[in-house]
Amino acid sequence: MYDLIIIGSGPAGLSAAVYAKRAGLNMLIIEKNPVSGGQIIDTYEVDNYLGIPGVNGFDLAMKFREHADKLGAEFADGTVTKVEVIDKGSDTKAPVYKVVTDAGEYETHTVILATGAHHSKLGVPGEEEYTGKGVSYCATCDGAFYKGKVTAVNGGGDVAVEDAIFLSRFCSKVYLIHRRDELRATRILQDELFGLPNVEIIWDSVVKEINGEDKVNSVHIENVKTKEEKDVTVDGIFVAIGIHPSTDLFADLLECDEKGYVVASEDGATSMPGIFVAGDSRKKRLRQIVTAVADGANAVTSVQDFLVGKEK
Ligand code: NAP
Repeated sequence: MYDLIIIGSGPAGLSAAVYAKRAGLNMLIIEKNPVSGGQIIDTYEVDNYLGIPGVNGFDLAMKFREHADKLGAEFADGTVTKVEVIDKGSDTKAPVYKVVTDAGEYETHTVILATGAHHSKLGVPGEEEYTGKGVSYCATCDGAFYKGKVTAVNGGGDVAVEDAIFLSRFCSKVYLIHRRDELRATRILQDELFGLPNVEIIWDSVVKEINGEDKVNSVHIENVKTKEEKDVTVDGIFVAIGIHPSTDLFADLLECDEKGYVVASEDGATSMPGIFVAGDSRKKRLRQIVTAVADGANAVTSVQDFLVGKEK
């Protein structure tokens, strides 16, 4: 029986692990991916984490993990398939939850959900068929395959613009296809993008189809204002249209908003007593490493407060 099980080992989960060990909680962190770090392991450069400008995302993730290891955090591999209420508990008694994974079952008095988010899909013909054959969701992972080639990035946020900048360093040409006439990305990234000679921005356009033979050779796009449609010849397309919370498993157990984010304020307390949420799966304004790390710390503090005076 654990005091706390943390599900997910991104920045929120690892931060929670550090705070939990320092608080003396008997804790376990369950991770689906054997490499800890969550989304940042695919990030080439993180330039806004205080004190470490320009750090590589993977390196930062390894530092986070080392910190948790140094304090003796217990890790288990597994994909969580269910969280069950065994005993609801009361004002004087701690609840008991069973966390079921594909590798084993564990019991705990509290849970911090830190499952983060995953890449949204376009849902257009050709996307699934050519995934891994020219359709990618991670420029830092797959970009190197496109040296000297023509690529497209779809999206207008920080990730899309970062991807386009990254790809421009070795692709002969990069198209940035965006559905509006202004980018959502941070101004500093936009300024860098606009100065790149081999990047062409295709404004007001959506991808309607991804075409190819064995692998991608073009994308079919439509201008949403003029309704004009055309094919753009590319060797690959990087889809960077945002993220979707990885919370489907908890939709029946916890109150979520219309997009699937778990409803909780800064203390991380969800609609179930003893279950807390931290990081990108929480409904909040700003999803960054720094806010995920802060969520992890806050959630552990809430766990401590929650367990005070309760019989275990
Ligand atoms: P995002 O900020 O939500 O941007 C998604 C982009 O995709 C938007 O431009 C959106 O268009 C577009 N889009 C959404 N659905 C679409 C669809 N079906 N078809 C075409 N385009 C679509 O997502 P993100 O760039 O993945 O970033 C996720 C979070 O991580 C953000 O909070 C971001 O700030 C953060 N992040 C920060 C950094 C950094 O600070 N260095 C780096 C990476 C990510 P509209 O603009 O028209 O809505």
